[in-house]
Amino acid sequence: MKEKIGIIGGTGIQNSLLIGEDAQGVTVNTPYGSVHLLKGALKKKEIYFLNRHGYDNAHTILPHCVNYQANIYAFSSLGVERIIGTAAVGSLRADFQPGSLGVLGQFIDFTKGRKSSFYQGALLEQGKFVNMTYPYCPEMNQCFLGAGKKLGIPLVGDLVYVCTEGPRFETAAEIKAFGILGGDVVGMTSATEAILCRELGICYASLAMSMNMAAGTTGEGEKEIVCFDMARLEEKIIALLTQVIMDLSAVRQCGCRQWSQGV
Ligand SMILES: [Zn+2]
Repeated sequence: MKEKIGIIGGTGIQNSLLIGEDAQGVTVNTPYGSVHLLKGALKKKEIYFLNRHGYDNAHTILPHCVNYQANIYAFSSLGVERIIGTAAVGSLRADFQPGSLGVLGQFIDFTKGRKSSFYQGALLEQGKFVNMTYPYCPEMNQCFLGAGKKLGIPLVGDLVYVCTEGPRFETAAEIKAFGILGGDVVGMTSATEAILCRELGICYASLAMSMNMAAGTTGEGEKEIVCFDMARLEEKIIALLTQVIMDLSAVRQCGCRQWSQGV
């Protein structure tokens, strides 16, 4: 069976450049709603691409309105075992300036009011307390760092992602607090996807793209939160994702599936 890999694009990765022009649309009906993906192939692997914000104009579906359950369930029902999410982030770190790339190692979840679990008592017989000690797949993260080295694309590893509800940006006081708590970057989507992937035993890694310095970190007041033009990085990002897809082992060596068994 062909290896199946999912890509979740969002802000910064708006299209399916990665999987070529003959990508086909696929609609998957799930108990949570239907999901539209694009199916293509890359290096003999089957690739399913989803834009979490929709396919028309940017941000047709805002981060707090994304149907995360349907999205991740759709990948699972297609037999996808690994998902790479892209995450546009605000940076709390002076050494992770706009335009920098990295991989997430941990998250701190400040979302509220969204469904961050499949265990709602309706579809699965019982809930599980899944192991989230390492929320992002260690094997995929290693693969990213290796691919970055091969291609000469600097990647910051093990970033701590603070996930907020959105869609508003954060206050300066919130960012200051997140920094004290150990956060490196802030965004609105990755933690929810990581949790749902873990519950279904899917490996998940997140490529963080620094869009701007977070509120209150530069002392420039109203000039802050000027978004970096991700189109400038598109070529690099595509090269990186292609290399990672090529390098991923055929059989998973990580503990993600076991961690998803919970207790
Ligand atoms: Zn894994």
